[in-house]
Amino acid sequence: MEYNVGDIVKTKKPHPCGSKLWKITRVGVDFGLKCEGCGHFILVERQKALKMITKKISSEKD
Ligand SMILES: [Zn+2]
Repeated sequence: MEYNVGDIVKTKKPHPCGSKLWKITRVGVDFGLKCEGCGHFILVERQKALKMITKKISSEKD
């Protein structure tokens, strides 16, 4: 699966705020993910991010 900035993805574990949806704000060595529930931003290693993400919900490129 290929990810781009602006994609909305779903993760295995919910964020403490209860949301499982994240918006990708950066792709590269690290993925930048912004929680759609509370706006919290995290930076995650690419490999870790790929394991966390279960599904792509929407893409700005479609
Ligand atoms: Zn959150």
